[in-house]
Amino acid sequence: MAEIKNANAKQEERPLTQGVKEYIQFLEDANAGKPVEEEKKEKKKEVELNTVEYHSIKPFRGNGKLGVIVLDNFAHAGKMFFKITIAGKEFIPIGYDTFGNPVISEENFAYYRAMKYLAERKGETLVPKIEFKKKVFCVKTEAYDSIQGIQNATTSLKKFKEVLINRKYAARTGITLNEFIAFEKYILASDGRVYEANNIILKDIDSKEAAARSIYSVDEMEYYESNGNEVHIPDEKDVCAVCGKSFDISDVAFASFTETKEASKVHKNCLCDFVRDMEHQKACEIIDAVYDGRPSSEVVYDDEQDVNWYLFKTNQGTIGIRFKTKVIEIKWFDNFKPFNMKIFDNERVTKYDRGIHAWSKDDAIHYLVMAKKA
Ligand SMILES: [Zn+2]
Repeated sequence: MAEIKNANAKQEERPLTQGVKEYIQFLEDANAGKPVEEEKKEKKKEVELNTVEYHSIKPFRGNGKLGVIVLDNFAHAGKMFFKITIAGKEFIPIGYDTFGNPVISEENFAYYRAMKYLAERKGETLVPKIEFKKKVFCVKTEAYDSIQGIQNATTSLKKFKEVLINRKYAARTGITLNEFIAFEKYILASDGRVYEANNIILKDIDSKEAAARSIYSVDEMEYYESNGNEVHIPDEKDVCAVCGKSFDISDVAFASFTETKEASKVHKNCLCDFVRDMEHQKACEIIDAVYDGRPSSEVVYDDEQDVNWYLFKTNQGTIGIRFKTKVIEIKWFDNFKPFNMKIFDNERVTKYDRGIHAWSKDDAIHYLVMAKKA
């Protein structure tokens, strides 16, 4: 008990940084005689100018290298912006998440963690401060919620992305937005998000003006549906994680981008090439571990199953390898020397006539050796 008391006493002696003093003041102000319910209701309203919030930076989705600040309040993008300061240094967000929370770059997030570590080492607390400031310009509703306004923004990814960000903010302040179909591929929904649009049928539009547009109101649709998949349109600063090229508006128009599991943006073609070459290399390593002379290989795309087969012409006949989510499938073709599949009777894996699933690269090599020797 004595030790705990001492620890507490030590903490009390610690000097308070300006950030902590302000944070304590913030808590006191927030609790100053206001019933909790009333406070909750207030949060849903558009935030007041110069509102201040204090939050730590948390890892953002994906690989967690980016940071995010989860805010209580949301500012109308057209009228306000956030100023984020950490120990007096301004951190400018690289973008905003689906909920309008500021996203912090990898470098700034690492810098923040270092500052936090050093502050804690001195017994201080570092709390980022977020102020809601007035924007010097004002975005008119038409710019992000009318056919012509959005159409005008389709000339560049930067402009289009601005429209999307403004729509998200507007939605967060409680405005129900009009819905649009963009590039006959996306639904710009009333909640400010973007969803995949499927099976779009335009009404008979005979005006030249309408035919030249890439933005339509949903009222101009005979039919459309959505699989509910949200689309994260790349930022003009984003680069393809494989080829390194920046994205532009044509990538959006042709839907030639996608996201990896780690939430990196990539060109669909680049991702396909990347996956194919990585798999092809792995398949070659498996075969080369069993057969000498680097048997010639061929990649055959199976569009029914959307996978590649890697075929190898060995001196015993053709072997196919493909990679499924969890297993490596091996198939011995008809021209492969005869052998009895009974050699695999002790293997507790999926088997079929001249085919087997392996749980690992080592298992795959092991099965190929068994068939080679059989
Ligand atoms: Zn690319």
